Amino acid sequence: MKLFFRTYSLKFKYPFGVSGHTRSETQSVFVAIEHEGLTGFGEACLPVYLGESLTETLHFLESSRVLINKFEPGNDLDAFLAKLDSLSPVCNAAKASIDIALHDLLAKRENKTVARWRNIPAMKSRSTSFTIGIDSEEVIIQKIREAAAFEVLKIKAGTANDHALIELIRKHTNKPLYVDVNQGWKQKEYALEMVQWMKTQNVVLLEQPMPKEMKREMQWVTARSPLPTFADESVKRLCDLEQMDGAFSGVNIKLMKCTGPNEALKMIDYCRNHNIRVFLGCMAESSCGTAAMAQLMALADYVDLDAPELYVNDPFVGLGYKKGKIWLNDEPGLGVRWLGSPFCESQFSENYI
Ligand code: MG
Repeated sequence: MKLFFRTYSLKFKYPFGVSGHTRSETQSVFVAIEHEGLTGFGEACLPVYLGESLTETLHFLESSRVLINKFEPGNDLDAFLAKLDSLSPVCNAAKASIDIALHDLLAKRENKTVARWRNIPAMKSRSTSFTIGIDSEEVIIQKIREAAAFEVLKIKAGTANDHALIELIRKHTNKPLYVDVNQGWKQKEYALEMVQWMKTQNVVLLEQPMPKEMKREMQWVTARSPLPTFADESVKRLCDLEQMDGAFSGVNIKLMKCTGPNEALKMIDYCRNHNIRVFLGCMAESSCGTAAMAQLMALADYVDLDAPELYVNDPFVGLGYKKGKIWLNDEPGLGVRWLGSPFCESQFSENYI
């Protein structure tokens, strides 16, 4: 198999703020893996808070070339991904890009969607929350209007103004809210007080209320919380999930954290066997990375996969957003097509699929 990759900057419609910083674009690297005239696409999405640099991502992809060249359809994917994983202790987004591209390619070879190829129940569409970042009052109101079709809003909180933020939103909509605190609350008593108040404001779940280092404090909060709590920064991979020890009632699984769909499926299995709720989310991927997670959406309790809706220059098509839902098509693989300028050989040939 042959690996190609190129960098790409995804531009937001509005600058996007989370607890800590605001950005106007997201650096991504798109990969293409080719074999016998078919191409699988993948994505490494690198928002600054992920902590993975473009340089190390490109270096990892370059160093994985030898392994990919030797990989053949029919080889053990799990064993291959374990070898790929051992090339570096970090670079999870780069690993995810390869896993996503292999899922796309191998499912296309069998003329199946990724979901069907992985024996996941078929699901064409599902409600997703719409994310509203930390912003000025005017922009937040504007975004609430734009999100009219979405049934649930996901709010980025974690500043000293969380009360005012929720009160502002409640002046304009009564929709259920997911609140992502992004580690913003530093004291367990304050966190519990806030959760109890948010329960009265039709908040339905809370994500990463406290810093990831504060596991004991989160065990204390979760044991008393009237709302389910979800780990994000605290749980990247299966090994983190196995050590969660009741600190959260659920986990937000993201492909860029967990190295791709193969490990995400293992994490979902673990959750089902340990009474942990499953939230499928994304960093800020284009339609490529988002479609890869959407292929697993039948297995989720909650879905937050709206990232492509936040961009103006998504280079993939195929994933739809209608009536507050994310829609998959029936095309083999991920169900997305690259629209950008060609960056792999088959894109110059007539047989490009
Ligand atoms: Mg989060």
